[in-house]
Amino acid sequence: MSIKAIKGTKDILPWESPLWHHVETVCREVFSSAFYQEIRTPVFEKTELFARGIGEFSDIVSKEMYTFQDKGGEWLTLRPEYTASVIRSYIQHHYEQQSPLHKLWYVGPLFRQERPQAGRLRQFHQFGIELIGSEYPEADAEVITLACEIYQKVGLREWELHINSIGNTKDRLRYIQLLAESLKPHFDAFCPVCRKRFDINILRLFDCKNKSCQKLLDDHAPKITDHLSPEDNAHFEQVCKLLDVQGITYTINPKLVRGLDYYTRTTFEIKGKQLGAQDALCGGGRYDNLVEELGGKSTPAVGFAAGVERLILALEAEKIADVPASRPDLYIATLDVESYQGILKTCTTLRHQGFVIETDLLRRSVKAMMRDANKKQAQYVTVIGPEELESGTLTLKNLQTGETSQIAWNELGKALGKERHTL
Ligand code: AMP
Repeated sequence: MSIKAIKGTKDILPWESPLWHHVETVCREVFSSAFYQEIRTPVFEKTELFARGIGEFSDIVSKEMYTFQDKGGEWLTLRPEYTASVIRSYIQHHYEQQSPLHKLWYVGPLFRQERPQAGRLRQFHQFGIELIGSEYPEADAEVITLACEIYQKVGLREWELHINSIGNTKDRLRYIQLLAESLKPHFDAFCPVCRKRFDINILRLFDCKNKSCQKLLDDHAPKITDHLSPEDNAHFEQVCKLLDVQGITYTINPKLVRGLDYYTRTTFEIKGKQLGAQDALCGGGRYDNLVEELGGKSTPAVGFAAGVERLILALEAEKIADVPASRPDLYIATLDVESYQGILKTCTTLRHQGFVIETDLLRRSVKAMMRDANKKQAQYVTVIGPEELESGTLTLKNLQTGETSQIAWNELGKALGKERHTL
């Protein structure tokens, strides 16, 4: 029996990659336009980094990590998220000595052992940013703005931004106590998962998809936004104002507390309306304590991470997934091996000039090569045999218009140049 890809992993097939390139190009353009620099971190790290960075009681650390012992006996983990790795790099390489503020972006694969379903994989990809060094609301607003810009620029129509503030750690601990007291009388009415989370991380109750649990929270949970300090309130109001002045619409959602332990103050999420149960396109927020918790100097930071597969699902659902694929500028059909040998140098020169040149490697008939050139939507085609090689001239046919012209070999670049495609 042939070997198949592992459950929860997926090949990005050759005909799917134009859409991936489109998403990655938009990311690179949007982030670079705000002067963010790309960071690439290793795919695996010491297990301890994620245990400390994400929180031992989070779903990711307690159930979902791909952890293994290497031959030296060290515990390693395939990265389940980016932020801890980026902060590890920030601390290790003393970024703060170069500049007080760092604006970083990334894109790459992550690994979580979740139950696979539509929009939820075991190897998936995220793009995102981390803005390290500013405590001010301008930083939160810039991060949220850039996230929104990605969805606008890729052309997605149906998405919405939810924001919230969960205050500082001290106020949150007080709020958690109040929440527990308010919900305790209703404990038995919550679903088994919520009941389990009650003592471990009660804020996670807000993530429950169960309608009756949500109703209990609506009826009995105090709103975290009513329990913020004046400073946290002022910070949140300023974030909202900076979004308002840019005309970015959002919903303030007091139930948005996010699953990870390290968030402080601002949290936000972007939901795709065309996605089913797994509707979160992007999640982020401020995490002012993480650098210190991972052994660095106390440094404020804010960022977001967004799923590439979910965005692609959303684009497909909106039927805007048709991104033009690369096509040959010129298809050179050769009649025999000598002719193939004769065109090779020209082929390389044209490729160096930036043209996409396709040749036949299956020794096909002229008819089959023409069919192939049409299927690949080549702009031009030329058939080369001993005659063309000897005379130094060839017939160039524009497959779109059907026009033909006789040109000399050394005029090929100029002739193609008129309608050159970008790669
Ligand atoms: P998180 O790191 O959990 O805050 O997730 C950020 C974003 O990554 C989510 O909003 C999703 O778009 C995406 N994501 C998270 N987990 C998965 C997964 N298992 N499969 C596919 N996408 C995911």
